[in-house]
Amino acid sequence: MATHVVIAGGGTAGSIIANLLARGLHREIQNGEVIIKVIDKEEKHMYQPALLYVVFDRFREDEMFKDMRDLLNPSIIFIHDEIEEFDFNANVVRTKSGKNVEYDYLVIATGSNPRADLIEGLNEHGDIFYTLEGAKKLREKLRKFEGGRVVVSVAAPHKCPVAPLEITFMLDEYFRAKGIRDKVELHYTYPIGRVHALEAVANWAVPEFEKRDIKYETLFNMEKVEGKDGSGVIHSMEGFEKEFDLLIAIPPHKGTDALINSGIQDGWVPTDRHLLKAEGHENVYVCGDTTNLPISKAGSTAHFEADVVAENLIAEIKEGHPARDYDGKVMCFIETGFSSATYVWFNYTTPPDPVPPSKMIHWLKLGYNRVYWLTARGIL
Ligand SMILES: Cc1cc2nc3c(=O)[nH]c(=O)nc-3n(C[C@H](O)[C@H](O)[C@H](O)COP(=O)(O)OP(=O)(O)OC[C@H]3O[C@@H](n4cnc5c(N)ncnc54)[C@H](O)[C@@H]3O)c2cc1C
Repeated sequence: MATHVVIAGGGTAGSIIANLLARGLHREIQNGEVIIKVIDKEEKHMYQPALLYVVFDRFREDEMFKDMRDLLNPSIIFIHDEIEEFDFNANVVRTKSGKNVEYDYLVIATGSNPRADLIEGLNEHGDIFYTLEGAKKLREKLRKFEGGRVVVSVAAPHKCPVAPLEITFMLDEYFRAKGIRDKVELHYTYPIGRVHALEAVANWAVPEFEKRDIKYETLFNMEKVEGKDGSGVIHSMEGFEKEFDLLIAIPPHKGTDALINSGIQDGWVPTDRHLLKAEGHENVYVCGDTTNLPISKAGSTAHFEADVVAENLIAEIKEGHPARDYDGKVMCFIETGFSSATYVWFNYTTPPDPVPPSKMIHWLKLGYNRVYWLTARGIL
């Protein structure tokens, strides 16, 4: 009997794991001893970090997608379908089209989703650049924007913890280049008692904000948004109000509905922080945004975790036991405009320590944007 490995989600984590397994288990796959399947509701894989650049007309839509089948090793079976339920007792994934996909090993890599619907009025009056449609809509608004108060308001949890900082720095430079910075009040709000979840990043960001005359407010949790003709007001849970002429919001995220419907609270799967197995399920690994680990939901996290999950699956299938622990490693570039950037790396035991922004780090980020497809293929 062949061993069936099912990977739920062919995004960053899912595609890296699938391609690494195809390489590490190529003999077993050729002999029919192992079968690898990837299930995704989309046929195209989107490079999500490009959305930040789409807002400023610096990334073309046709460069940010690849066909899932082309990205995955030809030995992998790709199933284009939406997962509706995970039946962990029966070792089956049930899909919208009625398939029951059985597994010996399951990898959950279904990511996270911005949920503007959780804040009253946000969909109607706010702009959300975390989707392609939203990024393009914001791009058009920015083209026409001639001045007023722009508020970048952040809710938690959300993926890419540094993207809200990046867009704020980029907006500052964008308005300066357009010659209207003196007509724009730029505000940033954050839900906890500092401007970023990572203390070192918060301490680094405050003087960067002050240098650029970016106003910031902490302990501000969006509760309700009211608006008329593009302008409006955000009401916070803490009882404050903030007026805006353009609201760029990062809504709270949740995991996929399929997990929530399978009894997993908010879609964040309780996960062992080192082995990356779902708690209580020896044959289920979890990777990327959908873990409940208190670390950044970022592509780099998904990448470093994926290396560990793939190696452990290969070791389990070949030798009966996992081989490696995840150490909590994350690495994020932080754009500080259109020509400089810094970066942070950290793990469970080492806190981040942002370095002074430089052109070179910015070029490295732009370079990585182009070579990402090698990462998704499990090569880099
Ligand atoms: C604007 C923006 C900027 C970012 N910038 C960076 C950055 O600079 N650096 C960085 O490290 N990270 C960045 N990220 C975050 C990064 O893109 C994510 O953290 C990363 O993609 C997570 O990988 P994942 O595999 O967990 O989820 P995803 O890559 O989102 O993949 C999940 C996959 O699961 C599929 N799926 C979900 N539910 C179902 C279902 N029910 N049935 C079938 N398929 C399903 C989806 O279609 C998707 O293909 C950014 C994100 C955004 C939005």
